[in-house]
Amino acid sequence: MAEVGTLHDAFLDELRDTYDAEKQLTKALPKMVKAAHSPILREAFESHLEETRQQVERLEQVFESLDEKPRGKHCDGMAGIVEEGKSMMEEEFDEMTADACLIAAAQRVEHYEMAAYGTLVAWAKVMGHTEAADLLQETLDEEKAADEKLSSLAEGGINQDAADAANEGAESADEEEDEKIGAGAGAGKRPARRR
Ligand code: FE
Ligand code: ZN
Ligand code: FE
Repeated sequence: MAEVGTLHDAFLDELRDTYDAEKQLTKALPKMVKAAHSPILREAFESHLEETRQQVERLEQVFESLDEKPRGKHCDGMAGIVEEGKSMMEEEFDEMTADACLIAAAQRVEHYEMAAYGTLVAWAKVMGHTEAADLLQETLDEEKAADEKLSSLAEGGINQDAADAANEGAESADEEEDEKIGAGAGAGKRPARRR
């Protein structure tokens, strides 16, 4: 009878999955850098891209510490999250809303990674892989910090700017309506948004 897999096998599977997920992100993040309108958001993506490249190398160290060759296994979960982010970026939104959407997509990524690394750290510890646990914890901390940074950017202005743009859009649509009623059909169009 074939032997059943152990927690160690599951651990290696999860490591390979996460290694692939991080590699997917080194390709997705440059697109988010380009799509970001706010300079501070662009900077945040740029610095997390740099961090992500280091996380790929850190995972290689984890494999080494376990005497395993670094190997990836396609991460369907991350592929789905990246795909959703892509379709969001294809929508036509005003600049502020587009930035708010980029943050929403990026935070889905960070939370998925936090879940993965949380499990990896716990499993490494319980199996006594101290070096691996320390390395994985380092990355977990970076993912948490990246998530918090994104929250602070969203709540520190980007969401409000997007909401203001939505309100202004609604107001100018109202004004246009008023003009049409007052001046009859054929009233000139006003620019959609000030700012
Ligand atoms: Fe990462
Ligand atoms: Zn996965
Ligand atoms: Fe991340």
